[in-house]
Amino acid sequence: MGISMKISDLFKEKEVTLSFEVFPPKTDAGFEAVEKAASDIAALSPDFMSVTYGAGGGTSKNTARIAGDLQDRYNVPVLAHLTCVSSTRDLVRSVVNEYKERGIENIMALRGDIPKEGRICFDYDHATELIYDIKSIDDSFCIGGACYPEGHIECARQSEDIAHLKEKVDAGCDFLTTQMFFDNSTLYQFLYRIREKGIEVPVVPGIMPITNAKQVARSVALSGSTIPQKMKIMVDRFADEPDKMKEAGIIYACDQIIDLISNGVSHIHVYSMNKPDIAAGIMDNLRSIIR
Ligand SMILES: Cc1cc2nc3c(=O)[nH]c(=O)nc-3n(C[C@H](O)[C@H](O)[C@H](O)COP(=O)(O)OP(=O)(O)OC[C@H]3O[C@@H](n4cnc5c(N)ncnc54)[C@H](O)[C@@H]3O)c2cc1C
Repeated sequence: MGISMKISDLFKEKEVTLSFEVFPPKTDAGFEAVEKAASDIAALSPDFMSVTYGAGGGTSKNTARIAGDLQDRYNVPVLAHLTCVSSTRDLVRSVVNEYKERGIENIMALRGDIPKEGRICFDYDHATELIYDIKSIDDSFCIGGACYPEGHIECARQSEDIAHLKEKVDAGCDFLTTQMFFDNSTLYQFLYRIREKGIEVPVVPGIMPITNAKQVARSVALSGSTIPQKMKIMVDRFADEPDKMKEAGIIYACDQIIDLISNGVSHIHVYSMNKPDIAAGIMDNLRSIIR
């Protein structure tokens, strides 16, 4: 078995960390391509890698497989995601046990988006319930939770969202990772508000490099994140020149990351979207800062 490490311990050990994310294939036919992309990203030696989980169950069995392989073959600590909105308690138990058997020590505990066609299972309403369940199955995992610097899309008032976040952290989150945001002042305001409410766990900003114009509409639709004028202008200028757009998007993300680290927010997660070239671009710019 490869290196396994609790992310909470990693954060105590290292002042600055950089992690990348991959998502499993939608069908088994795409498995090899995703494994190749994941291994190329692992070769960049990030501090850890996260592997997302399909809320509808379509890609869920591959999360454990990809995460386990990353840890065993490439010695990268992993964070395996788990969503509950479409899961029975029995399914959650079996996935948690599988993570355990594979030596995975970190779980990102999520509700998942409510499926458009409606829910097929009602065992869980919120991520908080999942966290209690994981802890009752096995109390040894390091648990991450999601948070939303601009407020979660379903919650009309951010103060309510933060109150729910406090309940989630109290249920047993060891750290939080944020939804993407493109203006760091959004994060600094959010941090001020949650610290004031007694949420003290590490908050890991999730940075999404915007490297093609279509991503902007897609990201906004999925996350509700605000696109600042600075980014709109960049996309407008480079949208029709893919190589320049990619370079500009990587530099925009690095600029965000350097500002965060300069301000003491120093555990950074990059939504690298199965794209080794983009992960490499970020790493090349930051290597001496994060080592
Ligand atoms: C870092 C990160 C990683 C992600 N990874 C994945 C992934 O791998 N797979 C995937 O499918 N999706 C993923 N998502 C998307 C996520 O599943 C959605 O954003 C989802 O809509 C909310 O999940 P949550 O865990 O934040 O939910 P919750 O924490 O349950 O919150 C959801 C909503 O319910 C509200 N709420 C919470 N508790 C209560 C309560 N007691 N009463 C009333 N309202 C309440 C909250 O305010 C919020 O509006 C990720 C998101 C982030 C930020």
